[in-house]
Amino acid sequence: MGREKLFGMTLNELVAVARRSGLPGYSAKQIADWLYRKEIRSISEMSNLSVKARELLSEHYEFGLAEPAGSSVSSDGTKKYLYRVLESKFIETAYIPEDHRATVCLSSQCGCKMGCIFCMTGKQGFQGNLSSNEILNQFRSLPEFRNLTNIVYMGMGEPLDNLSEVLKSLEILTSDWGYGWSPSRITVSTIGLKEGIKEFLEKSRCHLAVSLHSPFDEERKKLIPVQKTNELSEVLGIIRAFDLNRQRRISFEYILFKGMNDTPRHIKEMAGILNGIRCRVNLIRYHNIPGSPLESPDMSSIVHFRDSLNAKGITATIRTSRGEDIQAACGLLSTLEQNRMI
Ligand code: SF4
Repeated sequence: MGREKLFGMTLNELVAVARRSGLPGYSAKQIADWLYRKEIRSISEMSNLSVKARELLSEHYEFGLAEPAGSSVSSDGTKKYLYRVLESKFIETAYIPEDHRATVCLSSQCGCKMGCIFCMTGKQGFQGNLSSNEILNQFRSLPEFRNLTNIVYMGMGEPLDNLSEVLKSLEILTSDWGYGWSPSRITVSTIGLKEGIKEFLEKSRCHLAVSLHSPFDEERKKLIPVQKTNELSEVLGIIRAFDLNRQRRISFEYILFKGMNDTPRHIKEMAGILNGIRCRVNLIRYHNIPGSPLESPDMSSIVHFRDSLNAKGITATIRTSRGEDIQAACGLLSTLEQNRMI
């Protein structure tokens, strides 16, 4: 058995670590400080712990950071990093610099169970949940870590299918003993798992993005097979029932597929089902994946879709496509790497 990783533990877990290692209770806070507030990478650098305390800690624990295993850079500045997880698997993390923002897009699982037909990660199948250590390592070991202004959980996997580790990572990011980030700079994205949404809204103050992709259940089920048990009316009912505070933003992600979900019928229905929810719709151009018959509409159709929604009182924006020359569609890069390793 290897040593346990301290990085990614909550303060409560560090209190238990201190107790098990025979250290005084207050050393948990000191360890958290070294893990999340200072830029060190080993237990031996925790200089306000005695040499003996560091030795005791090192008997069963290691710091737990891991550098990226590879990267590619787009001509638009977007970077994709590969991290090794679950021994010989790979996950992807995207770094997206914009005018006044720098966003990291984190993965929460290796592969995914949800099987969305437009997604390369879905085609990989499910290979495992990431621990809070593996989720946060993507943030902390990112070479551009110091530049970051925003975090999105929109990489590989369905975050609400790994909710306990995702919530743990959010606690560390937003606690004053952790990174002390404002929840308003963090967005968690889901394809719409109703139980997970409820628990997430109860336990976190971070923003929520829900994948819509069609306002009609029958069409959604074809795009996102798992929606068979997550009727849209139920998902929207949970969101409506929550007394959403002014700080929390709810957004709906909508990938446009030519001839499939980009018609006037869809615009009319969207305006109806989202009526009364304080939200915005992010329209996303589809990135083609190998072997898929799906296509993106042209830009003029996307602009028309946006303007029509805005005219009906639904705030809609078009998300800029980034990193198209470096396999930007989520899951492509790690699939290539995994195939290379076989
Ligand atoms: S879109 Fe998200 S939920 Fe769907 S298969 Fe891909 S990673 Fe999973």
